Amino acid sequence: MYPLNDKIKDLEPYTPVEGGFRIHLDANESFLPLPDSFLEEWSNTLGHLSLNRYPDPAARDLCKAFAEHYQVPEECVVAGNGSDELITVLFTAFLQRGEAFATLEPDFSMYAFNGYLQENRHVAIPKKADYSLDVEQIIQTCEQENVRLLIFSNPGNPTSLVCPREEIRRLVRGVSALVVLDEAYMDFSDQSLLEECQAYDNLLILRTCSKAFGLAALRLGFAVGQKRLVDAVKAVKSPYNVNTLSQSLGTLVLRYPQAIREALEKILHSREQLTAGLQELCRVFPNRFTLLPSATNFAALHMAEGKELYQYLGEQGIAVRYTGGLVRITCGTSQENQVVLAKIREFLENRGA
Ligand SMILES: *Cc1c(COP(=O)(O)O)cnc(C)c1O
Repeated sequence: MYPLNDKIKDLEPYTPVEGGFRIHLDANESFLPLPDSFLEEWSNTLGHLSLNRYPDPAARDLCKAFAEHYQVPEECVVAGNGSDELITVLFTAFLQRGEAFATLEPDFSMYAFNGYLQENRHVAIPKKADYSLDVEQIIQTCEQENVRLLIFSNPGNPTSLVCPREEIRRLVRGVSALVVLDEAYMDFSDQSLLEECQAYDNLLILRTCSKAFGLAALRLGFAVGQKRLVDAVKAVKSPYNVNTLSQSLGTLVLRYPQAIREALEKILHSREQLTAGLQELCRVFPNRFTLLPSATNFAALHMAEGKELYQYLGEQGIAVRYTGGLVRITCGTSQENQVVLAKIREFLENRGA
């Protein structure tokens, strides 16, 4: 039998959640479908797409629409097949064999996974007990360990916390590593470094269309930074990484800032509802859990019985995540929020401590 190498022999394919869940609050997607007007306009453009040809390797229209939406220079943007693909490309491009990368744990698991596959040395720096970042400590560790690439999310997944911009600036200036700042959730917050990313020669910012824009199915992500860094990413990525259909619909959506704002408001309203309900449960059931202040489209609960709650909700047909010691619940429709809140109340009344 052909022997699988040590690196892959125990790996299993990524399976989001299985089973017949009626409510999906596990993947931090948007609960909003695209407005019909978009789909209509998009269907009118389909006839003009050359599906027999390869896509535009530079995804020019898409990157231009992104650059205009966020007010960044067009030549400083590169698109990927989701930010997931870009994370892989960044590890391939900016790390040589055996070099060290650092993550701030707990964080998005794809970072460590990519480093593992690339056979790079992982320096896992823990967050503080309250899940905030200890910038001085991070800088010191990165310099001591000769870290070449530091990657983390802000706002953080699964913590939902945002670290103030000033702290991130200090971090970027303080390390010699390339900082990959994953701002997947920054549309829900206001501490982005996007507008000033041209000021740093060691900063790449990741953004995605999968969360606030409700386009998870398209797989669209972006890396933004100084042209020298972005050109290196363009040179390493596979040429036709973003397909023509995603390029065209993504471009269309990015050109309607009004629709994006409206969707965002609905999601923020959902967050309001979900967190208000959770705060109320905190009052009624003191000392059972703490709710982290969310700067994202999900709520993070720190809870000794986290795993039990996760399992209980699963039995009730509600998918959430339990990761890094936190129960992570995506903001859903008003009805989904009400159901999950009612089930959490039920759990607190009948189970556990
Ligand atoms: C959801 C998420 C992404 C988005 O990944 P895509 O591949 O663009 O869908 C990136 N980073 C973090 C931390 C996320 O939670």
